[in-house]
Amino acid sequence: MLIKRFVFNDVGVNTYVIVNKQTNEAIVIDPGMYTDDERLIFDDFVSDYKLQISLVLLTHGHFDHWFGADFLRSKGARVLMHRMDLPIIEQSVAIAEEYGFEIKQIPQIDGYLNDNKSIKLGDINIDVIHTPGHSPGHVCLRLEKEKVIFTGDLIFKNTIGRTDIPGGDYDVISKSIKDKILALKEDYTLLPGHGSETTLADELLNNPFILNIVSRAQ
Ligand SMILES: [Zn+2]
Ligand SMILES: [Zn+2]
Repeated sequence: MLIKRFVFNDVGVNTYVIVNKQTNEAIVIDPGMYTDDERLIFDDFVSDYKLQISLVLLTHGHFDHWFGADFLRSKGARVLMHRMDLPIIEQSVAIAEEYGFEIKQIPQIDGYLNDNKSIKLGDINIDVIHTPGHSPGHVCLRLEKEKVIFTGDLIFKNTIGRTDIPGGDYDVISKSIKDKILALKEDYTLLPGHGSETTLADELLNNPFILNIVSRAQ
């Protein structure tokens, strides 16, 4: 297995590609490619590795995380997201325009990501963890065997996702972090939707929001 990270669009979204090296099938998490150049860079990677993009998984419905969803869908990928972020996708168009992005149409969602269910690609197993708070349908995606969690906009290095936006709720995000991530009781590499990677152990030591959640739980 290979995990490749790209940083795309002016918001700086991490787009991750999980490659099954045996079959050359791949899953893309949060396809943020927006410009033609970004799409060319991505296409070069796909042809270098002769990849077949089977699935696109959205951690949540914010526009910077799905700019490239239809682009990959047109190449045969299915796009999956949690059902509860459908309204967020619709609201995102107006918000994206305020930020100066032009969106021709909202991405088509082919199926839903459900809490506690797994997505399989050959021997790659991705667990869906519903973690609302930044948005109602936010999910984290966990590779149990490899000890990796794609945290989307739930947890970043030294901070957590914004909750001062429509659909955001600080108490809900705190509960998601405590009950769904900290409760795992094992160390994981965290690959967030923005910024650099970290580990759960590091965040338990250094992330002021997580320290606050832990101290309130005691
Ligand atoms: Zn977001
Ligand atoms: Zn984001």
